[in-house]
Amino acid sequence: MSDVPGIELNNGATIPQLGFGVFQIDPSDTADTVQQAFDAGYRHIDTAQMYGNEAEVGEAIAKSGLPRDELWITTKCNNSNHGYDDAQRALDESLQKLGLDRVDLYLIHWPLPGKDLYVETWKGFEKAHADGKARTIGVSNFQPHHLDRLLEETDTVPAINQIELHPHMQQAALRSYHERHGIRTEAWSPIGQGRGLLDAPELGEIAQAHGKSPAQVVLRWHIQIGNIIFPKSVTPERIRENMAIFDFELTHEDMQKIEGMEKAERLGPDPDKFDR
Ligand code: NAD
Repeated sequence: MSDVPGIELNNGATIPQLGFGVFQIDPSDTADTVQQAFDAGYRHIDTAQMYGNEAEVGEAIAKSGLPRDELWITTKCNNSNHGYDDAQRALDESLQKLGLDRVDLYLIHWPLPGKDLYVETWKGFEKAHADGKARTIGVSNFQPHHLDRLLEETDTVPAINQIELHPHMQQAALRSYHERHGIRTEAWSPIGQGRGLLDAPELGEIAQAHGKSPAQVVLRWHIQIGNIIFPKSVTPERIRENMAIFDFELTHEDMQKIEGMEKAERLGPDPDKFDR
């Protein structure tokens, strides 16, 4: 089908390492854009209740005619739906919008430490998994101390933690926590939202040496350190460009140069402070 490698998760499922993110894609553009992604070879879509475009992702899935077992569909429980019952109700709504009877991955979008309901929410996720509505369950934007509580107070280790991660925010400590506990890392805003980062001279030099674009270099860096990624674009050429990262390899020196770009600089909120 495509060159995208699979990554095995702690529940035995295999997720395509490259997917397509639909955050900030207008609902009126979503079905066509997702169709373009399918045409380019993407089989993994990352959406969320919060993005307001699950129904249009569902429309694209239905129109594509692709076999369900070739697709990996992720959605996320909205911040307004924390709690044992609410999390399960929210998944039922998402499934209805997506036109599916099961998602491949259901994530707690943010821990919301001020609400302190993420452990109860996780127990609701365990129930949704047991009921067959979520093949895999995971979290997003969790810090080690949030994960510690899930490990101590519940029966299921999250398969995935989806976190902000790009060359200016490399999350070494969290990645090593994940490794110790068999949790896979998903990187959101993998190319730093296409702003500033891609103009860095280091990336320009590496890109030129490989005959690739800075975006492709950064995406390839993620692949080589084992991250699962789903860059977003509404531009057909970029959708294809972001998929064309499996025909070259960054050298050890390239990887070290990118490692040297760390600034511990977030584009999004600090999960310990974000409570809305
Ligand atoms: P991204 O890093 O994927 O950047 C996307 C932007 O980069 C595009 O809007 C475009 O302007 C630009 N771009 C795309 N391809 C390019 C290319 N080849 N060359 C130059 N510029 C290019 O940022 P993102 O959309 O924030 O993150 C990707 C996905 O991660 C989202 O769509 C969403 O699915 C997920 N996400 C999750 C969370 C979370 O809290 N869990 C937060 C943000 C994003």
